[in-house]
Amino acid sequence: MITLKSFVCDRMVAGSGRPAVLVNPSTEEPVAEAGSEGVDFAAALAFARDVGGPALRSRTFAQRAEMLRAMAQAIHAKRDELLDLAMRNGGNTRSDAKFDIDGASGTLTAYADLGQSLGECRWLADGEPVNLGRSSRVSGQHVLVARAGVAVHVNAFNFPAWGLAEKAAVALLAGMPVISKPATATGLVSYRIVELLVESGALPPGALSFIAGATGDLIDRLGGQDVLAFTGGHSTGLMLRSKPNLLVSSAHVNIEADSLNAAVLGPDVERGGDSWGVFLADVTRDLTQKTGQKCTAIRRVFVPRERLEAVLEDLIDRLSTVRVGDPTADGVTMGPVSTASQLREVRDGIAKLTADGARVVLGGADPVKGHGAPEGKGYFVAATLLAVDDSSRVSAVHEHEVFGPVATVVPYDSAEEAVALVRRGGGGLVSSVYTEDRAFAADVVMGIAPFHGRVTVVNAKVSGAWLGPGTVLPQLLHGGPGRAGGGEELGGLRGMGLYLQRTALQGYGPLVDHVVAGAKRV
Ligand code: NAP
Repeated sequence: MITLKSFVCDRMVAGSGRPAVLVNPSTEEPVAEAGSEGVDFAAALAFARDVGGPALRSRTFAQRAEMLRAMAQAIHAKRDELLDLAMRNGGNTRSDAKFDIDGASGTLTAYADLGQSLGECRWLADGEPVNLGRSSRVSGQHVLVARAGVAVHVNAFNFPAWGLAEKAAVALLAGMPVISKPATATGLVSYRIVELLVESGALPPGALSFIAGATGDLIDRLGGQDVLAFTGGHSTGLMLRSKPNLLVSSAHVNIEADSLNAAVLGPDVERGGDSWGVFLADVTRDLTQKTGQKCTAIRRVFVPRERLEAVLEDLIDRLSTVRVGDPTADGVTMGPVSTASQLREVRDGIAKLTADGARVVLGGADPVKGHGAPEGKGYFVAATLLAVDDSSRVSAVHEHEVFGPVATVVPYDSAEEAVALVRRGGGGLVSSVYTEDRAFAADVVMGIAPFHGRVTVVNAKVSGAWLGPGTVLPQLLHGGPGRAGGGEELGGLRGMGLYLQRTALQGYGPLVDHVVAGAKRV
């Protein structure tokens, strides 16, 4: 059995206590164990802050970019091995696993390109200098400099590769050392990536540390120069962001949490047309990809009332071909959910939505035999479509995220009602509008934009060049207000804001210019 170790103070350390067991969610067989008891978190923090931080900050953006490129190459070089691990420990189909692993190397490469464009400087000038008198004798200039602490990254179980890489890429490029902690249950892929990165020598000592298991007193030790970036459930995020030391020290906290992402089908979209096809493809992909365990997956599907039955018929047609089972078996198109507790939560979630008035039109909470899996084993659930007939009588669909292959179709009668229904999600990561009608697009997009970090507006013209709303890109923001946690990640330079202090320099103009000289102006 593989033992996941923590990587702290430039060495691998096995936990000393009783480990957690990581299983294959298709067979329930153990694949690895992990534990962090005995890890000296104070020493880990000190090493990252005092050794990793200075080493990173002494490098230019272009040099940090080269580190990210080397990290991407180390991951890509072992792509097949990592895909296999993701299938074994995450229940991913090969295509789901590629989404995670290639997403990791792709995001690192995108940030390497960004770092290259920032060039041979170590901090950034933010905007133009401002004259503070009649001449340039007294002037001001904003600068962006790396925070002097450590960035602790706590990730969710669904993207063990991308989650680690997308956060690390941004922090390392900004010049902050990282301590990364994956969700324990699916941490095998993250651990292997860290092993590969250590072997590659891509990073200076202290730049990247890794916790296999619980974080002990690590987060209680963070202070005002540190960053905590968390992805996971809303209640865990709330508990972490409320820690007294984080509040007292004004440590920088970013939370990426739950989201009841919506798709809105415009009234102009005709059944059978190309836009209709894009809409069906997006809903189907989001429901099945990663077995619906994607924070950006479409959970609520709003359709014009007169199209409700047609949408349900066409979605049922597409989803009926889904074959649930062990991803290593032939013909399987959707794997299990990743853990036993996820399975329980998905079943409970379906029950909650149906008790509140939704009806099951496909699938449901009943146990499912996984194709190719041992009898009675595996965390399988059917692709499940629910429908609501009277949107005024349901609330659970707008409040409870079922983190699995489940979506609910809800009718609306006007653009205003569609906007009001989407807003009832309380703030989300991404929602999508499918329409050729420019007036409808403008009304709905601007109506829902304050409630989202990202809105996609789609029609047939994007066909062939469209990855769907569920794909998070390094160039665009990921995060959302309200229920989604209020965080912002990625978005090119924007995501680096979490790790950079914006400071206003003010005084004798030539001296201010001298201090800032050479900084890339952004
Ligand atoms: P979770 O149970 O909240 O766990 C998330 C992470 O927090 C894991 O690494 C977990 O570690 C850690 N954690 C739990 N308790 C902790 C504590 N007391 N101190 C420090 N760390 C702690 O969420 P999950 O089940 O992994 O993920 C599912 C949820 O994440 C869904 O609700 C989904 O919406 C959300 N999600 C959001 C995004 C986004 O970008 N917004 C992306 C993916 C998922 P252990 O595994 O060791 O307990």
